[in-house]
Amino acid sequence: MYRTHTCGELRMADLGRTVALAGWIQKVRNLGSMSFIDLRDRYGVTQLVVGDGSPETVRELASSLGREFVIRVEGAVVERSSKNPKMPTGDIEVEVERLTLLSEARTPPFTIEEHSDGGDELRMKYRYLDLRRPPLRRAMILRHRMAQSVRRFLDGEGFLEIETPFLIKSTPEGARDFVVPSRMNAGEFYALPQSPQQFKQLLMVAGFDRYFQIVRCFRDEDLRADRQPEFTQIDCEMAFIDQEDVLSTFEWMARYLFRETLGVEIEGDFPRMSWAEAMARYGNDKPDLRFGMEISELTGSVQGGDFAVFNTAEYVGAIVAPGCATYTRKQLDELTDFVKRPQIGARGVVWVRSEQDGSFKSSVDKFYSSDDLSGWAATCGAAPGDLILIIAGDRTRSLTALSELRLEMGERLGLRDRTKFAPLWVVDFPLLEWDGESGRYFAMHHPFTSPKNEDIPLLESDPGRVRANAYDFVVNGVEIGGGSIRIHDSALQHRMFKLLGFSDEEAERQFGSLMEAFSYGAPPHGGIAFGFDRWCSLFGGADSIRDYIAFPKNNSGRDVMIDAPCAIADEQLRELGLKVTV
Ligand code: ASP
Repeated sequence: MYRTHTCGELRMADLGRTVALAGWIQKVRNLGSMSFIDLRDRYGVTQLVVGDGSPETVRELASSLGREFVIRVEGAVVERSSKNPKMPTGDIEVEVERLTLLSEARTPPFTIEEHSDGGDELRMKYRYLDLRRPPLRRAMILRHRMAQSVRRFLDGEGFLEIETPFLIKSTPEGARDFVVPSRMNAGEFYALPQSPQQFKQLLMVAGFDRYFQIVRCFRDEDLRADRQPEFTQIDCEMAFIDQEDVLSTFEWMARYLFRETLGVEIEGDFPRMSWAEAMARYGNDKPDLRFGMEISELTGSVQGGDFAVFNTAEYVGAIVAPGCATYTRKQLDELTDFVKRPQIGARGVVWVRSEQDGSFKSSVDKFYSSDDLSGWAATCGAAPGDLILIIAGDRTRSLTALSELRLEMGERLGLRDRTKFAPLWVVDFPLLEWDGESGRYFAMHHPFTSPKNEDIPLLESDPGRVRANAYDFVVNGVEIGGGSIRIHDSALQHRMFKLLGFSDEEAERQFGSLMEAFSYGAPPHGGIAFGFDRWCSLFGGADSIRDYIAFPKNNSGRDVMIDAPCAIADEQLRELGLKVTV
């Protein structure tokens, strides 16, 4: 037997037992005639001691061991004279009687400890070494647990796990496709799925009224901290349901995951907020509800004076930072710089300090009286000691800037506590989104999302006002999932394609099979997909999804460990009928 126990297992109750352990050497300390070795495996670390009691050959071999060597030992479990309360195995050590070297190791390029000294790229190149570190190991374990919980819950609810193909024709989710050339059909390409959207709808037509899959999706888009070209969704679809059924089923799943993974009970129903309300109150369709600091509109209250910036603005809004009237000039300048960053694009911040003595000081003192400022304070609910931060400009951009400023102030004031969770549903999204550049509407979610029944008459006359049966699941300002009730009627679907500017031929070419399927009897259906990597990183308290993916890509979409993507051989190109021109 290679090992009788793992390196995380032995306790005082095991004293006197002869055990066998195997693992990697975390560290060796030679103290004269004694050596202490920390032996690590996936389960933990156990201290080994090679001393007077150990045979000469063992002592000799032990003196030649280095970091990350793989060894196997046998010996007795003894009580440690100096215990380490920080280690679960810290009360005991193993006195080595037999020692086998299983593999030597080169000196690792960075320290394999809780906190590593290796930079991002280096750790990505040697990902298998990084994965030996406790934080990544914990991340993988958390991910595994969540996947198992999802399967347990959905299985219990009658969902069937059904795989869908990776080599498909494009399914639009608003990103570019990754494409794969077909050798057998030279000159033709498969697309990798941006999601299994059309297949899961086809499964509903096939009668599998509850489907799920923990599935890889591929989207060729520019990468940010929380994006990867391939990522995993918990993808679900249900038939003979309405929106309420979907929301309640997945609210239960979310509760189950909170409980099973984190031991957290979420009290009460998850709040529901319409998209319009979320935008007005938080400037954002994924509001972080762990703290208040809601946006107040001041457009009416501030216009009509001498301050041209406010008078000419489409929108003026404010947030109140509690207790921040003491902010210095320097701190206020920092906030101005923050909102002026190109990603945010506001022209500046107007501030009003509501002083403890009831007076007001403001960057626009010369245009407004104390009474004016006091009126604004009342409108936004600012108390003495608070700081009012005002942004003016076009509506959308100002709301975005206020949203960013709110999150920044929440961060500065320590209100975004990672151990606190504030889930909600955002509902009633607009069906369409106008794109000024191309002068046409796009589906805000995807083209299969149904409009609200009562808004169908507006489809041609006022498309921008049509609301969708679409919903997002949001936790702590992160969009964890989204879905919709689908169109299951070919005539309505055709109207939708027309609105989106598809010609009949184009719609037929891209979505013909789904439309044909609907003509053979389609049940009402809808679903949702959750970003699994993101959900894991949220539960793990991390910002980036990268640590929750065993082998992620870097910011340029490269796997620097296996060096992909890479050029292919001329022979392969010939077989595929391809010529590379770059
Ligand atoms: N396919 C959608 C997405 O990936 C989710 C859904 O509508 O179920 O966002």
